[in-house]
Amino acid sequence: MSASKGKVLLVEDEPAIGETLQFNLESEGFEVDWKRDGLSAFDALCQDSSQFDAVILDLMLPHLNGFEILARIRPLAERLPILVLSARSLDSDKVKALELGADDYVTKPFSLQELMLRAHGLVRRGQWARASQRKPTDDFRLGSAEFSPASHTVKTAAGETVKITPTEMLLAQTFAQNEERVLSRNELLEQVWQYSSGTETRTVDVFVAKLRRYTDKPSEQSTPAIETVRGLGYVYKSSGKK
Ligand code: CA
Repeated sequence: MSASKGKVLLVEDEPAIGETLQFNLESEGFEVDWKRDGLSAFDALCQDSSQFDAVILDLMLPHLNGFEILARIRPLAERLPILVLSARSLDSDKVKALELGADDYVTKPFSLQELMLRAHGLVRRGQWARASQRKPTDDFRLGSAEFSPASHTVKTAAGETVKITPTEMLLAQTFAQNEERVLSRNELLEQVWQYSSGTETRTVDVFVAKLRRYTDKPSEQSTPAIETVRGLGYVYKSSGKK
């Protein structure tokens, strides 16, 4: 195969879904390594996670489930983009997966076209994250937090220094670079996740909620640094903040 667009680790135990995804991903130019259970996926990631440009991860899996894989792999491969496939429509599962370090999620049954859009975005982001690793940008401020792209950390409003994922960093950077401008969810998806979605996704909202935990003190009753603009999206305002 010549010039693959990227290598995707597909973790899915349902044969019909796995076959469909493998076929379609390969048709779109990706190289696919399909694992049918959690343990063999985890083994492949432990052996060399850098061989993959992205992971498509089912949550309900034999041996090790998707949550367990996320929790174990995130500290080892912090820049690897991970899209979660969730059969559950429970919001708490999606939030839990994103909290554990997933970059995005799709609920089954999904539209194949939508999933391919996201897969392309995910791989582009993975490649971007590797490239930007070589040329880290300057530290910047968002609300009361100090972000440091070079060390992948943020010094939070509460004074703690925590490691963050490339998706969180990129989202923070996007707000910092667009001060006072209202950014729609779709615009944020395009800039940060590298796809624009025809369907509803709460991914952006969950990530904004995560950023707010860094940018605002928990006790603060005032407006958060990243404000919600009803029906439009979000806007970052540094005014009024120290
Ligand atoms: Ca499953």
